[in-house]
Amino acid sequence: MKLICIGRNYAAHIDELKNERPSDPVIFLKPDTAILLKKQPFFIPDFSNDVHHEVELLVKIKKVGKHIDEKFAHAYYDEIGLGIDFTARDLQSKLKEKGLPWEKAKAFDGAAVVSKFFSKSEFDDVNNIDFSLEKNGQLVQKGNTSMMLWKIDALIEYISKYFTLKIGDIIFTGTPAGVAKVNPDDQLTGYIEEKQVFSIKVK
Ligand code: ZN
Repeated sequence: MKLICIGRNYAAHIDELKNERPSDPVIFLKPDTAILLKKQPFFIPDFSNDVHHEVELLVKIKKVGKHIDEKFAHAYYDEIGLGIDFTARDLQSKLKEKGLPWEKAKAFDGAAVVSKFFSKSEFDDVNNIDFSLEKNGQLVQKGNTSMMLWKIDALIEYISKYFTLKIGDIIFTGTPAGVAKVNPDDQLTGYIEEKQVFSIKVK
């Protein structure tokens, strides 16, 4: 399985990193080895002094497809989760400056937190789901899927032009504003609506 991640999908986050608004979604991949194992802490890698949390809503693919039309995209997923796209921002900035791929900054071991998943039928509208991240009990990121520049179905259409989507693939749909550095001993707790869906210790 693969993790397909979307960059720059929330206007306020694009502004905080002083990035340009893309005309198409920004896509990158993480390998399955990036998934942080259940109940394990997140270890800050020694090649970075500035790892940021990016909380993101996740979509799990349930059916193989390519060239999926947006109007049929809803049939390709029925579970929603929450994750963190950990990013070595210092390394990413250097790579971006040189026009190099981001993988070393985004796809390292442990860089993808994946919560348990919930049926989309539990939500009235997938395009109106609140999610948030607390650091040490304080709210640091808060988003709603209605604020996405490209909504879930549009992302599935776009991604599947380039990559065949397979059962179990997970889409990281982009982060809202509020990304910031994590430090040893931080506790990161994620919520979908009011429900706590993960709690990760940083080491
Ligand atoms: Zn991200």
